Amino acid sequence: MKSIDILIIGAGISGATLAERYASLGKKVLVLEKRDHIAGNCYDFINENGILVSKYGAHLFHTNDEDVWEYVNRFGSWYPWEHKVVARVDDKTVSIPVNITTVNTLFDENISTEEEMKNWLDKNRVVYEPAKNGEEAVLNRVGPVLYEKMFKHYTKKQWDKYPAELHASVLERIPVRTNYDDRYFSDKHQALPKGGYTKIFEKMLDHPNITVLLNTDYFDVKDQYSGYEKLFYTGPVDRFFEFKEQLTEKLEYRSINFITEHLDQEYYQENSVVNYPGQEVDFTRIVEYKHFGDQKSDKTTIVKEFTVDQGEPYYPVPNEKNQLIYEKYKEKADALKDVYFVGRLANYKYFNMDQAFKNALDLFAELEAENLQEYETAKVI
Ligand code: UDP
Repeated sequence: MKSIDILIIGAGISGATLAERYASLGKKVLVLEKRDHIAGNCYDFINENGILVSKYGAHLFHTNDEDVWEYVNRFGSWYPWEHKVVARVDDKTVSIPVNITTVNTLFDENISTEEEMKNWLDKNRVVYEPAKNGEEAVLNRVGPVLYEKMFKHYTKKQWDKYPAELHASVLERIPVRTNYDDRYFSDKHQALPKGGYTKIFEKMLDHPNITVLLNTDYFDVKDQYSGYEKLFYTGPVDRFFEFKEQLTEKLEYRSINFITEHLDQEYYQENSVVNYPGQEVDFTRIVEYKHFGDQKSDKTTIVKEFTVDQGEPYYPVPNEKNQLIYEKYKEKADALKDVYFVGRLANYKYFNMDQAFKNALDLFAELEAENLQEYETAKVI
């Protein structure tokens, strides 16, 4: 048996944050990571074209939370980056989120003021308040024509479910704008880490109290590690229990097949992300990484995203059925002593990056309130 205070399963946002926090309290932390790298799905690297690319899809950091913003800035410099997405619809290219330009381009309208845009939306929308599912959420905001062109089939490709089969919050992630603002997010802080996310995680985990073991699946080695104070598990919640007792119902997850192409040309598309909301192609979007941070290279790398149900779980599938199944796992998780489930997969929640940081920081603050007070007092003395 090895001597450790804190055992953490997974070296993504939740695991790295808790490791860093506990190490700063003087605890000996061991992080077990199944993959051959840290940083979870934020992992990025410089590829053969000299371009910083993400292995698991583009990650755009945005937050309104000052504490989270302050925290991530401890581990590297960030440059402002306001993410924009365009969509190919009916052989036209339009802005997503829906804004004045989107409506003018698709419907040959001549809207120029917020009031005209509000009137257009009022004329088109079908009121559902509150919206009970994703379909009602979109109809309530933009009406049936835009629903069909921009949301219905994209959602089917992404989730293998129509919006009516998903929680309203999934479709409400993207705003609808009554002005010309074409930014994907509205948050106060929108930024990318200089040099990439992996470097941020390296810095977080670079502490004499932290040991990281890569290529180590906790479930293969767990008998060797039992003398810990606390265990933080950041993997899929149902996987944790599969090894103990078979709960009959499996939670659904979506995975992504990333198909990478290296092209001998400077650019492939005009924007970092181009969405394909129609049925004419099977992929949801194409990401051209060199746009992020305006990277220079004679060549380019593009990645087509095909969402699939087999493979590594990236997305929980937010709907009522899965929520009910999750509640059963949560009951089991809550009953465990000194074991905490944290992050997108362990909480089965569609967290954004900043929410994942916040969730881990809040859990740490809640568990260590007393120690933190002593620590602060000791520092003052
Ligand atoms: N969505 C859509 N059309 C789009 C973009 C998004 O219908 O062009 C819907 C889709 O259901 C998607 C959800 O909005 O799953 C949230 O999109 P987001 O870009 O936030 O997804 P993520 O980046 O997390 O994959």
